[in-house]
Amino acid sequence: MSHPVPDDLRRAVHRLRPDLDSLSIDLHTMPETRFEEHYAAEQLAGRLGAAGFEVDKGACGLPTAFTATRRGAADGPTIAVLLEYDALPGIGHGCGHNLIAAGGLTAALAVAAARPDHPGTLKVIGTPGEEGGGGKILMLERGAFDDVDAAVMFHPADRSLRARHALAASHLRIAFTGVAAHAAKAPWDGRSAAAGAQLFLTAIDAMRQFVPPTARLHGIVTRGGDAPNIVPAYSELDMYVRDATSEGLDRLLTRVLAAAEGAALATGTAFEYAETAPRYTERNNNMTMADRLAAHTAALGLDLEPPSASNPAGSSDIGNVSTRIPVIHPYVQICPRDTPGHSEQMREAAGTPQARDATETIATGLAALVLDLLGDPDFLAAVREEFRSSASASSDRPLDTR
Ligand SMILES: [Zn+2]
Repeated sequence: MSHPVPDDLRRAVHRLRPDLDSLSIDLHTMPETRFEEHYAAEQLAGRLGAAGFEVDKGACGLPTAFTATRRGAADGPTIAVLLEYDALPGIGHGCGHNLIAAGGLTAALAVAAARPDHPGTLKVIGTPGEEGGGGKILMLERGAFDDVDAAVMFHPADRSLRARHALAASHLRIAFTGVAAHAAKAPWDGRSAAAGAQLFLTAIDAMRQFVPPTARLHGIVTRGGDAPNIVPAYSELDMYVRDATSEGLDRLLTRVLAAAEGAALATGTAFEYAETAPRYTERNNNMTMADRLAAHTAALGLDLEPPSASNPAGSSDIGNVSTRIPVIHPYVQICPRDTPGHSEQMREAAGTPQARDATETIATGLAALVLDLLGDPDFLAAVREEFRSSASASSDRPLDTR
């Protein structure tokens, strides 16, 4: 089913295409990692300010966050377009956030240019630190979404999807502390923190067959010891624990920490842990908005597949926002199917003209959806109704389903 995109909006996006190209290439060649995205934030906020948006740089006490607000000609809802612009350490834009930034910006600028008298308020929220920093969660806690009725964004990927599930996730640092000793002259005086870390990882592997198929347990050893002839007194792991729901994640965390405790007990070491980022919740996709977006992109020749349980899921800080307001997080294909995310191949794809073509199309669809949300109260009411029923459905979900 297709839903037409107004011609003037389509033309407005197309007129912005040269800047979409130069900005997305610019950010691609200058990757900045989480909370260091000063150049990207400056470029984005600058363009919004020049277009007449009221810009708040360093919003929510985060130097690379911003909000940009444009009040329309009449009262109405506040609809937000979310931008991400952080890159991955070592890989660069292997998650394609340069396209999220340029495409989301283009959608918002096109609405402002084509319909300067739109009702309601159009808000662009620059959300830094998505890759492991939980920037949206910090901004959510600090009020950036308090006045927002619904929020939209998109993400580049190896397939085009209107929605997909995302896992609840906890990012942990787990440390073992032992006793240093000379590893040849008196090893019996030592207690190896590395042995604690090793046994912990073995316990995690032993657990794998007995966790739900939705669970993900993965980590790296960030510190083993200082020298092979010293019994390691300190070892550290950087780890993610994920599951389909926050309740499932809670149960899994209890077992992971019990494994760490057991490993410490067995090796005569001590363990401590800390969650190094805010906890990500699972994603509640608003399908009323996602289906309308798909109807718009169908009119532009882009098919956004309906969600399927077989699509692989990661985690994102949009999940936390989705517990508070209706959101969508659709995907647009920029590379061959099954190209791994967070890879050099994905980074190369995020810099191609084909990726920018796909970004122009999804930006056009998003602009049309934003206009629907601003100007069609019945549509927004349907979006809200779905959000209300899905939110109560998830809080009513029994805890012992698995
Ligand atoms: Zn991403």
